[in-house]
Amino acid sequence: MVKLNNEIRILELTEPNFFGTVLNHNLTVTKGPGGGLMLIDTGLPGYLDEIERYLKSWSYSLEDISDIVLTHSHPDHSGNAQEIKKISKAKIYAHKLEKFDNQKFQIQYDQVKQEFNVNEKEFAETMKRINNLEYEIPKIDFYLEGGETIGNFKVIHVPGHTPGHIALYDGKVVIAGDSVRYYKGLKPPLRFFCWNYEKAVNSFNILINLPFSFFVPYHGEVITPW
Ligand SMILES: [Zn+2]
Ligand SMILES: [Zn+2]
Repeated sequence: MVKLNNEIRILELTEPNFFGTVLNHNLTVTKGPGGGLMLIDTGLPGYLDEIERYLKSWSYSLEDISDIVLTHSHPDHSGNAQEIKKISKAKIYAHKLEKFDNQKFQIQYDQVKQEFNVNEKEFAETMKRINNLEYEIPKIDFYLEGGETIGNFKVIHVPGHTPGHIALYDGKVVIAGDSVRYYKGLKPPLRFFCWNYEKAVNSFNILINLPFSFFVPYHGEVITPW
């Protein structure tokens, strides 16, 4: 699925070996308040060419991005933000409680093997890769609290996966970032990826109870209610 409606498209990237699985990334492209495109999350470092290829296939370029919203700081979301900002002078929005400091993931094999069919070698390879990503930390232009409007979307603070995680909602489309994942249905984020799991479940429940025509988790399938 690429075009959700006349104003919202999904740009799908894939991460080939994430704990032995293929993980997709749903970047959202829509109209921004800066007069150009608004990109919601930016993919892992190294995917800039692929983002550009997608935009070109829609007759746009990286220069057309005027606004970047980061749902949270993790590198699979913030990895290309600063690069794009350098090219397009886009403004970057993120929650004021979110720390952009390329923090390392502290995860044990025992936790992961309950969720993923992964052997110890693949586990170690993925951990090494995700904890050694090199990228420029994005410089935030606008700090959010929740309740603001950016373009057609309202900002909702949904802490849990991280302290300053946000979701966007325009009354029909929910852009959930990592506060909701799709795995055989909409699910809260995995416990071992959460800063505070109780808050994450609470945020998950708030988002999945919004009326929607499309629900967009960052990882997994875009969902319709029918
Ligand atoms: Zn995340
Ligand atoms: Zn993610």
